[in-house]
Amino acid sequence: MDDDDLASSYRWEQTVSAWDSEIREDDSGNIIATQYGDQHRIHKAKERRVTESVRRGLIRYLVLAIDCSVSAAEKDYRPNRLSVIKSVLEDFILHFFDQNPISQISMTQIYDRVSEKLTDLSGNPKAHIQRLRQVLTTEGLASLQNALIQAIDILQHIPDYGHRELLIIYNSLSSTDPGNIDNTIDMAVKNKIRVSIVCLSAEIYICKKITEKTGGTFSVATDASHLIEILKTLVPPSPETSSFASSGKTEFVYMGFPRRVLDVNENYGFDGKHPSLGSAFYICPRCFTKTTDIPTQCCSCTLQLNFSSHIARSHHHIFPVPNFEEVVLDSIGTGVNVGPKLDVNINNALISPGQNEVICCGCSETIKNEDICFVCPTGGGSYCIECDLFIHDNLHNCSCCDL
Ligand SMILES: [Zn+2]
Ligand SMILES: [Zn+2]
Ligand SMILES: [Zn+2]
Repeated sequence: MDDDDLASSYRWEQTVSAWDSEIREDDSGNIIATQYGDQHRIHKAKERRVTESVRRGLIRYLVLAIDCSVSAAEKDYRPNRLSVIKSVLEDFILHFFDQNPISQISMTQIYDRVSEKLTDLSGNPKAHIQRLRQVLTTEGLASLQNALIQAIDILQHIPDYGHRELLIIYNSLSSTDPGNIDNTIDMAVKNKIRVSIVCLSAEIYICKKITEKTGGTFSVATDASHLIEILKTLVPPSPETSSFASSGKTEFVYMGFPRRVLDVNENYGFDGKHPSLGSAFYICPRCFTKTTDIPTQCCSCTLQLNFSSHIARSHHHIFPVPNFEEVVLDSIGTGVNVGPKLDVNINNALISPGQNEVICCGCSETIKNEDICFVCPTGGGSYCIECDLFIHDNLHNCSCCDL
């Protein structure tokens, strides 16, 4: 790596502020981010992008354990660690259900050497977020072993097709356990629970050991934005490793696709597991119970209720959109390859002769010659950076390939 690369990778080594280097005005006076800001975003987005087709656990059962011991009140994250964790987890929960609509989450909190369940396993993000906002405890010491035992308790009855996961957000530097934690780690491995831990303080030996043994990931967040980045990497389902793969045979999972009905008068149905009054409900096709929101599990017959679009959205994790090739437009409007070997032309139909610009296939905005253009390797469509990020992070469909 030469000096220039180093200068651009460490922003704290630069003398100019982020405001001066990344923000400028365009011809009409609008504030836009400059190339450096774009490069930084591209780099970040690509780092967490997975494009190969591998077997993944699509129906995930995730226990989210939050360390609410006295360390959660530390003020190195502003205003304190617990507040930052709560706001970051709210986004994580929404993003998780957006990308994994047929999965379920249960939340627990670790404080005063015990682990307490906050919410039951459910696919209703509203219920989790409401309960998360009420968490205010910051007392006592944390116990990793109790957190593991409770997660095993919650997840051990999950059927074989479900992917069992535990994510611990850990603030403490130590763990105060009632017994030998190694036995509990072995139990977690036996129950095929993949444990991932994010530490907010420092790298801790036992945390790393747990994640290595169970096939999860271990990370240390340096600040709030780093914590957000780490959690984003945990949103797509992780590939199944051979030791964690479900027992070779194919299992059928019952799912219901409910009808939405509107009543003239208000009547009772269910919102999660609680009764609720309303006039618009989804009706379970098996037992005709009314429920307000899907995806969810029918509260009387436990049938998983989904839209077909939810299944389609989970399916995208198995067949991801390929990474687009980076191309810099030169002054005559033809592509100059800057990425690895590129064997596609820029979508010629969209380049007007004699013009040095390309029209984005996504938003129909003009990509000017100083901007980077992204070209789909299969369909050959050209995209601006915004559309590239949107296609890979949210849409999971390339308009030039699928339409
Ligand atoms: Zn039902
Ligand atoms: Zn675009
Ligand atoms: Zn395409």
